[in-house]
Amino acid sequence: MSDTTRVYSYSAVLMGSPILLKLFAHDEALASRVFRLIKQYEDLLTVNRAQSQVMDINHAAGKRAVTVSSPVYSLIKCAKAASMLPDSAFNLAIGPLVKRWRIGFRGDTVPPAEDIVRLLALTDPKQVVLNDDEQSVYLTQAGMEIDLGAIAKGYIADRVRDYLRKEGVVQGLINLGGNVQTLGTPEGGWSIGLKKPFSTSGSMIGTLEIAHKSVVTSGVYERFFEHNGQIYHHILDPRTGYPLNNELDSVTIVSENSIDGDIWTTLMYGMGVEKGCAALRARPDIEAIFVTKAKEVVLSSSHHYRFTLLDNDYRLTGSTV
Ligand code: FAD
Ligand code: MG
Repeated sequence: MSDTTRVYSYSAVLMGSPILLKLFAHDEALASRVFRLIKQYEDLLTVNRAQSQVMDINHAAGKRAVTVSSPVYSLIKCAKAASMLPDSAFNLAIGPLVKRWRIGFRGDTVPPAEDIVRLLALTDPKQVVLNDDEQSVYLTQAGMEIDLGAIAKGYIADRVRDYLRKEGVVQGLINLGGNVQTLGTPEGGWSIGLKKPFSTSGSMIGTLEIAHKSVVTSGVYERFFEHNGQIYHHILDPRTGYPLNNELDSVTIVSENSIDGDIWTTLMYGMGVEKGCAALRARPDIEAIFVTKAKEVVLSSSHHYRFTLLDNDYRLTGSTV
């Protein structure tokens, strides 16, 4: 952005995350409406309080189907489809394990192995039964829980973009704590920082110049705890019940819709760099930036953004597949 462009920033804390809205005109009232919209979705989708539409489904597990509103139903349907992809690391029924580990919340702990085995049995996404006619969701076993933590922010970021567009905004940005969605192209484009994993000073590995795109990052450094020298982070492997353990520190997805970015960061975590890049060859609309523990930055492709490396500790490589 040029120095003459005036940007107005508005912030809030919602969904346990710092929320940032950028506009090119001072409009406090619009910012309040955007934050209210996010809050309404949080109230429908949260699993961090006793009551929400998703919690209504969870409370009725093993007992009955629950009819929910259209946005909640369509998001759950999308989350189930992502969970049913072959070898998917995404699992909307991961809730019992998320609640047991409590990673990022008070009381986080390494559960006994027998608890993991018992809870894994309650995470089969096929047991999330959907009924399109009734818009209802039924969890067939008591103790099952839906958790939309890996997809809801992406969905909400898209709804904020749509709302801003409807309000006549031509340029704006919403950042829901790692899920960035943008509208329009300001002079010079949008520049989005790629965080350096585990940096306490907020350093950047590099920047992405984008226009009209979403940028979603998931990292092992976002929410984690350390126990006996080992790091336990919040992206769980649905196959083992433990945090996904591979060569990655973070994955960033550039895509049109933020919901895709949110889903694909999780899918890419499960696949790792090589399989991930191969899978993305079939999806030119989704591009990944992998940051590895070995300090490599691997771009699956870069047709829809420009990446600039800022940190010389890291090595930039393109996909070799
Ligand atoms: P992502 O990598 O996109 O997702 C990781 C999250 O997805 C995990 O935290 C877990 O919830 C879930 N998950 C883990 N493994 C898998 C898997 N294999 N498949 C699918 N999902 C998985 N945080 C608070 O501290 N307090 C709150 O009150 C709070 N309320 C929230 C309300 C809503 C509606 C949402 C969407 C989030 C809320 N959060 C809250 C944040 C939430 O707990 C997660 O930390 C956050 O959604 C993670 O997003 P991410 O983009 O950083 O990570
Ligand atoms: Mg995600």
